[in-house]
Amino acid sequence: MITVDNVSKTFHVPHEVKALRNVSCQVTKGEVVVIIGPSGSGKSTLLRCLNRLEHADTGHIYIDGVDILDRKTNINKVRAEVGMVFQSFNLFPHKTVLENVTLAQMVVRKRSQKDAVSKAMALLQKVGIPDKASVYPDRLSGGQQQRVAIARALAMDPKIMLFDEPTSALDPEMIGEVLDVMKTLAREGMTMVVVTHEMGFAREVADRVLFMDQGCIVEEGTPEHFFTNPTHQRTKLFLSQIL
Ligand code: ADP
Ligand code: MG
Repeated sequence: MITVDNVSKTFHVPHEVKALRNVSCQVTKGEVVVIIGPSGSGKSTLLRCLNRLEHADTGHIYIDGVDILDRKTNINKVRAEVGMVFQSFNLFPHKTVLENVTLAQMVVRKRSQKDAVSKAMALLQKVGIPDKASVYPDRLSGGQQQRVAIARALAMDPKIMLFDEPTSALDPEMIGEVLDVMKTLAREGMTMVVVTHEMGFAREVADRVLFMDQGCIVEEGTPEHFFTNPTHQRTKLFLSQIL
C-alpha cells in the first residue's frame, strides 16, 4: 500500500537540516505501523511526505501503486486516499461538527448533501459522539475534537490513515477514548501509520514498530522484538528514557 524508496528531505531555512536521510520502508495493506523516536528525528516529515504536505527531495514514494512524486499525479486525488490526523485537531472553527465532516465529502468526493450527512452521522456514531453533530468545535473537549477529526478523515473513505501524535495535546483522561477509536480502526483492517509516544498502544496494536533517529530508520521489528530485545544502542537508550 505504501512504498518509500530512498527518500531524503533537507530543510534549508532557518538553517540546513537533513530531516530524512535515505529512508526506505514499506507498509502492506491492513498493516498498522507505529513510528517512534526522539523529537526532531523526522517522524512528522516522513508522514507529511506520504501525502505530499512536504515534497521529498529525492527518492520515490508509491501509494497503492501511484508514484506521488510524479508531476503528472493529481495530488488532490492522492490526498483523498490518505487521511491524516494531527496533534492539533485542525477542525474548521466556524463550522459545526456535522459541517466539518460533510464538507470535503461534497467538495472532493462530489457526494450529495444527503449522502454526506448520512455518512457523517454514521461516523459520528462510530467515534461515539452522534449527539454533537450541531455543535461548534470550541464546545467540545480535546478528545471529542480529535474524534471529530478522525471522523472527518474517515468520511473520505481513505485507503490509508496517518496519525501524527494524535493524543499528545490531550489531557490524560481523554487519551484512551481516542486510542480506542484507533484500535477499532486497526481491528477493522485499516492501513495505518501512527507516530505516537503511547507505548501501550504500540505494543498492543502495532504489527511493526519503526524507530527513527536523526532522519534515519534505525531499527524496525515487531513490538515483541522492540520492547524486549532491541538491537541498536540508540533504540535501547530511547526506550530506557521513555519506559
Ligand atoms: P519529529 O516529528 O520526529 O519531531 P520533524 O520531522 O518534525 O521531527 O523534524 C525533523 C527535523 O526537520 C527537525 O530538525 C525540524 O526542526 C526540521 N523541520 C521540520 N519541518 C521543518 C520546516 N518546515 N522547516 C524547517 N525545518 C523543519
Ligand atoms: Mg513530529
